[in-house]
Amino acid sequence: MPVVNRIADLADEIASWRRDFHENPEIMYETVRTAAKVADLLRSFGLDEVVTGIGRTGVVGVIRGKNGGAGRVIGLRADMDALPIAEMTGLPYASKTPGKMHACGHDGHTSMLLGAAKYLAETRNFNGTAVVIFQPAEEGGAGAKAMIDDGLMTRWAIDEVYSLHNLPGLPVGEFAIRKGPIMAATDEFRITITGRGGHAAKPHETVDPIITGTQIVSALQTIASRAVNPLDSVVVSVTIFEAGTAFNVIPETATLRGTIRSLTDATRDLAEKRLNEIVNALCTAYGATAEIEFRRGYPVTANHDDQTDFAVSVAEEIAGPDRVQKETEPMMGGEDFSYMLLERPGAYIFAGNGDSASLHHPRYNFNDGLIPSGSSYFVRLVEKALAA
Ligand SMILES: [Zn+2]
Ligand SMILES: [Zn+2]
Repeated sequence: MPVVNRIADLADEIASWRRDFHENPEIMYETVRTAAKVADLLRSFGLDEVVTGIGRTGVVGVIRGKNGGAGRVIGLRADMDALPIAEMTGLPYASKTPGKMHACGHDGHTSMLLGAAKYLAETRNFNGTAVVIFQPAEEGGAGAKAMIDDGLMTRWAIDEVYSLHNLPGLPVGEFAIRKGPIMAATDEFRITITGRGGHAAKPHETVDPIITGTQIVSALQTIASRAVNPLDSVVVSVTIFEAGTAFNVIPETATLRGTIRSLTDATRDLAEKRLNEIVNALCTAYGATAEIEFRRGYPVTANHDDQTDFAVSVAEEIAGPDRVQKETEPMMGGEDFSYMLLERPGAYIFAGNGDSASLHHPRYNFNDGLIPSGSSYFVRLVEKALAA
């Protein structure tokens, strides 16, 4: 079965919701208008239950199958939040809120899941229960975790969870997925080096934190090149180096900030350990001291084997077998659906956004052309997993 016919009929309506969300972006947990519209639409579709305020501004909708809902419970998740980016698309429905923009396509994810909910509530051609999950704050606020902490998985007895993200560069109508790690753990560090400031012409009387800092920046590269197995992946990037205020003064302190990305817990732990050792050892060697703040962000997004096979079978029904990449390369970006995959088995898949600007770019736009296949994917996951 290719795209579900009824979904194809709904595509224009789904696109109209998408454009409305696009025009009214809200960031982090501030997705109040978005959540209200989602909840209103879900109620208008006749869902069995619509609950707001899960994970602060998250929304959960319940659709029971034709058997009254007995049996397994499949969770489908979309993210609702936008980004603090000034939109440059020039679209007629471009953001009306200066400095905020749907630059990651969450407007599309939310709308496609709404379309799936409308279809599933109309047809109920399954035995069991579908739970549609709309989360805030995917972009750095761990909204998925907030919903879990509010009892999402237990309150609705969710058995498996699935999600989808659009992917620029992958043709529209195609899917890409892999078993195991598909998105990275995203950690953040801040190193404050304290030396002894003084006159630039009397360096021997100072402890120069800039020299120490540059040695640290170089030495941190050995985490990827010498500490981690070359067959594993890690990114160590120093992205901010701040020090000094005048050309003739050696400053007292220097600050380095950056990010570490990894695809396994072991690599993540090793990278953090090596960072601490390198910074402390080099500071000792140069007579400086260091304060290290290491903030763990999202964990690795790791797909479960059986659910990935199942997701592939659904995607292949919709797109055709040759349009589903089953062993796509993982990405070093982060994704807070990772928290849901730590709670329940499931899978996260990419759906092609075609030849568009990259995610988080001010000229990015979600491609409405992927609505039929993306929304059909959610629908068929439920109908196939809970076949009546
Ligand atoms: Zn994003
Ligand atoms: Zn995103």
